[in-house]
Amino acid sequence: MLYTIEYLTERILASEKPYDLDKITAAYELANEAHEGVKRSSGEPYITHPIAVADILLDFCMDTDTICAALLHDVVEDTDVSLDTLRKKFGDDVANLVDGVTKIGQVPLNNTKEEQQAENIRKILIAMSKDIRVIIIKLADRLHNMRTIMYRPPEKQRKKALETMNFYAPIAHRLGMSAVKEEMEDISIKILDPFGAKNIEEMLDKHKEQRDTFIDIIKGRIRERITDIEPPPTIEGRVKSVYSIYKKVYVKGKNFDEIYDIYAVRVIVDTVIECYNVLGIIHDIFKPIPYRFKDYIATPKPNHYQSLHTTVIGREGIPFEVQIRTYEMHNTAQYGIAAHWKYKAGLSGSVSGEKRFDWIRHILEQQQDADDINELADAIKVDLAPDDVYVFTPKGDVITLPAGSTIIDFAYAIHTQVGNTMTGAKVGGRMISYDYRLHTGDIVEIQVSPAAHPNRNWLEIAKTSEARAKIRSWFKRECREENIAEGKRLLELEFRRNKMVPTEEFLLEIANLQHIDNVEDFYAAIGYGGVILSKIMQRTKDLYNARNEEKAPVQEENILETGYSRRRRGGVVVEGIDNCLIKFAKCCNPLPGDDIIGFITRGYGVSVHKKDCVNVVNSPSSEKERWINVMWAGGVESESYNATIDIIAEDRTALIADVTSTIAAGRLPIRQISAHQLKNGNGNIIVTVEVASVEQLNNMISRISKIQGVISAERTGIV
Ligand code: MN
Repeated sequence: MLYTIEYLTERILASEKPYDLDKITAAYELANEAHEGVKRSSGEPYITHPIAVADILLDFCMDTDTICAALLHDVVEDTDVSLDTLRKKFGDDVANLVDGVTKIGQVPLNNTKEEQQAENIRKILIAMSKDIRVIIIKLADRLHNMRTIMYRPPEKQRKKALETMNFYAPIAHRLGMSAVKEEMEDISIKILDPFGAKNIEEMLDKHKEQRDTFIDIIKGRIRERITDIEPPPTIEGRVKSVYSIYKKVYVKGKNFDEIYDIYAVRVIVDTVIECYNVLGIIHDIFKPIPYRFKDYIATPKPNHYQSLHTTVIGREGIPFEVQIRTYEMHNTAQYGIAAHWKYKAGLSGSVSGEKRFDWIRHILEQQQDADDINELADAIKVDLAPDDVYVFTPKGDVITLPAGSTIIDFAYAIHTQVGNTMTGAKVGGRMISYDYRLHTGDIVEIQVSPAAHPNRNWLEIAKTSEARAKIRSWFKRECREENIAEGKRLLELEFRRNKMVPTEEFLLEIANLQHIDNVEDFYAAIGYGGVILSKIMQRTKDLYNARNEEKAPVQEENILETGYSRRRRGGVVVEGIDNCLIKFAKCCNPLPGDDIIGFITRGYGVSVHKKDCVNVVNSPSSEKERWINVMWAGGVESESYNATIDIIAEDRTALIADVTSTIAAGRLPIRQISAHQLKNGNGNIIVTVEVASVEQLNNMISRISKIQGVISAERTGIV
């Protein structure tokens, strides 16, 4: 394919849509000039990439601004062209789209942790809830990069394939863009598992001829029977994507021969009524396999996918899947959210207010309620899992739930009130337990009583985050007193088990970590399950230990870490207090001989500042009472203190060597030294030395000042 502006122009004209060709051409010209001389790994001029991305977006019938942004999507990041230039030349929309695409590209994608993956997806969702076109451009960008991935080095290929598999394909799926999702997955799996993928391809190739004949026969047989539909339906036959078969063989461990839906036949008609008519005919010609019928027309998937699915067996004994849908549903299935431009908005207009993006809002709202990111990770994982179960109400309504769902999930999916007053449930006429996992085809009859209410252990049993959120909110609302008592009981149990005796202050501190500002609410949150103890206990224990170490009389490392002088006992006398813990404030690092003052900290002893320290001078009057007199004790010669000297000097080699040798000559131990260049070209050395007194330090500073090239040497509080 030759991606040139002529090719693109031809495609735009052929679309017969009211594109603004002048604007698109201008965008091309700017991009072409900006990327001038740069080549892709394939050796082609760089501009072929933005054109290819624009070409993909033309397939989706995206609007003029999206096409312009596609042409310009790499200029801000890769060339000198600024966002402002784009804003002036092409308007806010194009500039914001390019900016969005650039930013998404900068989201660090972590391929190892599932949680992080969910977090990444969340970031993208937030970005695209403002303008969905950003992610559509990004998906097109990634799709073209994957199509040309063979030109990249192997380790890059793997990284990109992982990212695509973990991240972009799921998003394409969520947006209902199945064509994009399948192509991304098929390219990625060939990189991630070349042998496995090849194996599948070979199995598929093996009977290619037979298979083609088979599909042709099936198509013919269907066409023969559908005679009364005008215009005649489109009938397509195909083999499912390599990755979808790969998953069934390698992930679900199915035998290649027992995969029902290697073959898929698609019948596309004009109206919904015709869909059901065709279904009747199909079930008449072929034998349907029980439980394989899915009515996604009555119950669309969360990504708005609609179709009738049924798996049937022909005379040959080979099962195959038939999908029946209207042309509009077909477009939605291929292009997902992007199909919106084909049918709804024509070629202009942002879509952020559209109802079909409810799920984005839904996920984001869930995020606000979610007590932590794990909850969201679960929500997204569950949401992305392809395995839904379809269960029925006694009246025959279908409820779609994630695999592993229980009657609790079912009850709450019907109505919050049904969940809140449930006393039990029957499946197929038999009472079942709460932890029973529902199967597709179960007919579930929920029993309720107005006096009933949820049980706390339902939180453990329920699978969906929706149900758990509703249970929690019931507890939150209905029984605060009980929650507080329960939360307190649970927390105390944990403390006893860990031999911890927390103070009220400590309780408040851990409550604050959960963004709760009083202990009672904290108990209540534990009580209704908003704060999960098992998730916070490790951190709580660590914090508890840290706090107690701070209070303990000698903890050398701890003191060192916080930058306070090591040998501190006996150096300072605090007026009116014997034997109290002394720390030297990091802000001013007082030395023997300095005028000093003490500050009574909350629970960690007295911290000693220089009297002229800014923190003393600016101390609020409300804290006046906490300042106390302290003085240097006698015989301080044996003690030593850390002091830091900030040196600015002309940058020259051997400067650091001269400084360190001067300090060494003065027999002062160096605790820490760092050097860097300042913006004006001068060198900056910051050195921490151990000294016994202010005189010793001043003496050293004056020696350092005399080193050739030194502009200034000053004592500083910052270590
Ligand atoms: Mn790009």
